[in-house]
Amino acid sequence: ALPVIYAITPTYTRPVQKAELTRLSHAFRQVPRFHWIVVEDSTARTELVARFLARCGVPYTHLHVFTPRRFKRAGMPRATEQRNVALAWLRQHRSKRDAGVVFFADDDNTYSLELFEEPPFSKSQDISDLQFGQLTNEELQLGKKSASLLVVDYMKMRSTRGVSVWPVGFVGGRAYERPLVSGGKVVGWYTGWRPDRPFATDMAGFAVNLQVILANPRAQFKRRGSQPGMQESDFLKQITNVTELEPKANNCTRVLVWHTRTEKPHLANEPKHRKDTVVIEV
Ligand code: UDP
Ligand code: MN
Repeated sequence: ALPVIYAITPTYTRPVQKAELTRLSHAFRQVPRFHWIVVEDSTARTELVARFLARCGVPYTHLHVFTPRRFKRAGMPRATEQRNVALAWLRQHRSKRDAGVVFFADDDNTYSLELFEEPPFSKSQDISDLQFGQLTNEELQLGKKSASLLVVDYMKMRSTRGVSVWPVGFVGGRAYERPLVSGGKVVGWYTGWRPDRPFATDMAGFAVNLQVILANPRAQFKRRGSQPGMQESDFLKQITNVTELEPKANNCTRVLVWHTRTEKPHLANEPKHRKDTVVIEV
């Protein structure tokens, strides 16, 4: 059977929460063998998220942990506790027998289905339309059919054996950040921000095989000693090194996830007294 893809999504109560979760679910519900681990930053599971998940069409687990107030200051890493609770759940509920791949999907990001599955070309379509720049001669000689499967494998996070990486749009002060790949290996990072980071990638830019999570039971996201923007590096260096990384998204030449951020809606005209006659969840 296909390995299950586990998405870990921290989320917190605010006006746009349901809209964000709705957008995410519309991508995830189209992916076979997918499991959504949604972790609320709250003292209990909220009604809104519980109702939403029950109806969203994605297999899910609903968890919660409240971020202590002292950690909710500007410049501090977000959602550390939520991601760790999700990792703890996986370690408790999954075992050596379970094939899976884990990635971190913040609730405001935007995902292409191509990160999970084949690009939307028909099987009969001439695959010369696709980019072959990243295939070796040997691979090309395998013929069109196998080559097309190879192209597909370059894309998908589901084939992650250890830790895989790919470009992310709108981070690092640039249109995108990406791992630089040579000979199928990551050899550096294209980024506009702190290129000295050991893993100059955003939370949205990597996936980890479930067995790597289980084999490193102490690996987690750090508060202590973690500088802003170093969450990813501080986590990844506990479980892998740069030379082992597996490039996805056609050898890291395509942007399939965007670190979008949603504008706060204008609510200054919400009525204080004469409210609407019905109560509507937004
Ligand atoms: N988040 C959270 N509690 C908070 C702030 C953020 O659980 O107090 C979640 C948020 O829903 C998102 C992730 O943490 O899934 C990252 O937060 P955000 O998108 O605000 O970070 P940024 O995009 O600025 O890096
Ligand atoms: Mn975000």
